[in-house]
Amino acid sequence: MVVYLVGAGPGDPDLITLKAVNALKKADVVVYDRLANEEILKYAKGAKMLYVGKKAGEHYKKQPEINQILIEEALENEVVVRLKGGDPFVFGRGGEEMLALLEQGIDVEFVPGVTSAIGVPTSAGLPVTHRGVATSLTVVTGHEDPTKANKQVKWDFKAYTIVILMGVGLLEENTREIMKYKDPETPVCVIEKGTSPDQRIITGTLENITNNHINTPALVIVGNVVDIYKKAQEIKEEAR
Ligand code: SAH
Repeated sequence: MVVYLVGAGPGDPDLITLKAVNALKKADVVVYDRLANEEILKYAKGAKMLYVGKKAGEHYKKQPEINQILIEEALENEVVVRLKGGDPFVFGRGGEEMLALLEQGIDVEFVPGVTSAIGVPTSAGLPVTHRGVATSLTVVTGHEDPTKANKQVKWDFKAYTIVILMGVGLLEENTREIMKYKDPETPVCVIEKGTSPDQRIITGTLENITNNHINTPALVIVGNVVDIYKKAQEIKEEAR
């Protein structure tokens, strides 16, 4: 019995790793969240498929419930694949699942995935670091309510580039926080449904980005690297 904690990548089925495909091929059971593209499940032919993500009109399965499912499936099967979007340890609660399984004496193997935090901007032609422009990068959850007591996220990041995941719901609150430390004119890029055929890219500034309606999943990139993306678009435009 072994559980492979596997990253599925950000959506484009070509962005899954060979190691993930090989794990899926061996799987007796696949326990998966909502994926941007379910096409990759085809690699696990014949495996039992257990969806534990959000269902319309229903609550998320609570994390302890998911841990319990993983433990039970691992005890009954040789190979369980726990498949998560992006990378399993980037805001995926993979660490909690790892600990719960190890505590039961169950082996866990790790298969990294292309995280949306970097893979989505790169696929769009937006470099998250750039010589002379951005020498550091912060990846942060935008889901933490800035008004709640004991919040962990402070928005006074020193990094030149900030990538916000789960950042749509509280974008207004969070950009307001960031503007306490950064120029309101700082460029911002939102990438909706990155790496998919429905990808949409919106650019603006900290001050005006919330004038747009944004659909999920989306990530938000704050920093002067957004100007490198815009410059690349201009060069492409001129070449046309
Ligand atoms: N483990 C995942 C992240 C889980 S949190 C990873 O490594 O990518 C989920 C958040 O990721 C979403 O709210 C969104 O901000 C971002 N995200 C995931 N897939 C995305 C995509 N295809 N396009 C844009 N953002 C995406």
